[in-house]
Amino acid sequence: MAAWGLAGVFLAADFFACNYPAAESRFGWKDLKDAAVTAGGNAIYEEEEKEEKYIALTFDDGPHKVYTPKLLEGLKERGVHVTFFLIGQNIDGNEDIIREMKEDGHLIGNHSQNHMQLTKERTKEACDQINRTNEKIESITGETPAYVRPPFGSWSEELEGMVSMRVVLWSVDPLDWKTQNKNRIVRHIVNHVEDGSIILLHDVYDTSVEAALEVIDTLSAEGYNFVTVDELLID
Ligand SMILES: [Zn+2]
Repeated sequence: MAAWGLAGVFLAADFFACNYPAAESRFGWKDLKDAAVTAGGNAIYEEEEKEEKYIALTFDDGPHKVYTPKLLEGLKERGVHVTFFLIGQNIDGNEDIIREMKEDGHLIGNHSQNHMQLTKERTKEACDQINRTNEKIESITGETPAYVRPPFGSWSEELEGMVSMRVVLWSVDPLDWKTQNKNRIVRHIVNHVEDGSIILLHDVYDTSVEAALEVIDTLSAEGYNFVTVDELLID
């Protein structure tokens, strides 16, 4: 995470808050990342295999007019809840899809307005990117998102101090956008998943949606439960 390493260069800038004042108690984004990475238990002992295992599927860059509804239908059939990190510019004209996400019980988070690398933007623009998408989502669902996934996972100490949202990164990345190969995506996830995993996918590719549904069927049979990131991150 190069951006984090550079955090030291942000000298004591005037205090500026993007949105609401920071909540009294919340996770730092680094803690969340660590939690996602370290939450995996070792399931090599038989007795531990009987314990419940929880993972979160997360979908970035949507909504997509065709593939997101296809995903929602597959999730509904399977009774599974996931987390969506939406791009503001993709919401326009797809409000019904967002309404359906909300009605179906999925968690809706923020992935900026135009998929900008926020650490490279000026403070005001970075805040704008987050606030515009929050406003759009709130106008549809009546709820302001509490979770943000910064594009490219690029975040900084400065942004952490200004944005009063929980940052969610990931621990399993099958590079679905790159391979666009259902079998390879499924194999990567099944081979790398463990209790507590946060899996990164993109609901803007048919192959990703088909892979996600297959992963649900495969891992459900192995005793995994699928939850939204807020359920996974609660202590
Ligand atoms: Zn993205």
